[in-house]
Amino acid sequence: MEKNSAPGVQKTRKDHRHIIIAALSGVALFLTVVFFLSPEASSNKNNTGAIIKAATPSAAAEAALNDAPRVARYDFRLSDKNTFYQIMSVLNVPGTEAEEVREAARQIYDLKRLRKDTVLRVFTKDDLLDKIEYKYSDVETLLVERDGEDAFKATKAELPHEMMESVISGTIENSLYEDGIKAGADPQAIMALSDIFAWDVDFASDIRKGDSFSILAEVLYIDGAPRKTGRILGAEMVNDGKKYTAYYFEGADGGSYYDAEGKSLRRTLLKSPLRFRRITSHFSKGRFHPILKRYRPHHGIDYAAPTGTPIESAGSGRVVYAGWKGGYGNFVMIKHNNNYSTAYGHLSRIAKGVRTGAKVDQGAVIGYVGSTGISTGPHLHYEVHLGKSLINPLSIKAVSDRAVSKKEKQRFAAIKDEVARKLSGDVTVTASKGNVEKAASAKGL
Ligand SMILES: [Zn+2]
Repeated sequence: MEKNSAPGVQKTRKDHRHIIIAALSGVALFLTVVFFLSPEASSNKNNTGAIIKAATPSAAAEAALNDAPRVARYDFRLSDKNTFYQIMSVLNVPGTEAEEVREAARQIYDLKRLRKDTVLRVFTKDDLLDKIEYKYSDVETLLVERDGEDAFKATKAELPHEMMESVISGTIENSLYEDGIKAGADPQAIMALSDIFAWDVDFASDIRKGDSFSILAEVLYIDGAPRKTGRILGAEMVNDGKKYTAYYFEGADGGSYYDAEGKSLRRTLLKSPLRFRRITSHFSKGRFHPILKRYRPHHGIDYAAPTGTPIESAGSGRVVYAGWKGGYGNFVMIKHNNNYSTAYGHLSRIAKGVRTGAKVDQGAVIGYVGSTGISTGPHLHYEVHLGKSLINPLSIKAVSDRAVSKKEKQRFAAIKDEVARKLSGDVTVTASKGNVEKAASAKGL
């Protein structure tokens, strides 16, 4: 971003003054306003300092100061309520001009779609709109500049970037999160891993010392440094001695993960209603990531977990009970397909919208861990029913309902073999795509 802004702006930054404009304060925008003199003006001013007897700037310097255009920069940090037209009107840009800017920019980025927490940078010259900069992706910036009296020209600046493939492997000593970071995975990759195997592995309460993982991920490099994990192309996980594998495959119905036999990893029920991703994001405000405990004192499972831990519906279905139920306290029961039902007890609170008859998706938050009803401490009581009988949730034979189609079997096998080789470390993984070569040749390298 910084590299793309005009060099003059960077050089004169020390001249800037922050100005609070009271008139703008009524608008819910966070903005930094930076005024600066043109480089010519500031060098003239410095030169006059050499003439000791001149108490005031020389006439020439004064003229240069007066002639120098008044340039201002506004950085708007956007909330989800801000719109492009609103910002333009704050800066007194006529509506027709704002429309021209949007029209010029449209082929690159539609300014109607400004995103929350991004920055719209606007430059004015003598109070007229001069330039707009908007970094709309990790690597792309839209530039709209005045081109003549009432025309605007849009261009796109792109940082040198490339997508590399990288294998991250580790063994668990303390927690998946800690050891994942130690192995070089970023939080995004760790969450993705826990999502991929969420139907097979209970990441919130069944990760053991000695479990191991391997991830083949796309990693976005910007300016030669790894910045962001992209898609996970393949993964392996050994949990309690059992090995699970996942291969990313784009079939007719979109991209998804499959096992070595080409069966989808998605199933009717998640392995656990307490999910690693939810717990991690819920507790990230605190200093610790709780490692939950699981007990099986009766027909259900008890998960000892802090009050307020979000509980997910293990499968999609319809709520058949949501409310107080004797010793269960706040209680939710959901009926899924394949004749399965799941039940959740002792909730501190039932989530909004979860009432009898409501539809829920797999993974939707239905409530929060608590200690209501007959309970000795905060925990989730979880039951799975098959037809009318209670069954051991841990014994469910997960059956996949989807598989790679016959037509695509061969293509899947080729991708699977390649990913498996990379995961095993037999092949060096390299750059897959990006604009680095383009950027290098543009510089004449
Ligand atoms: Zn229980």
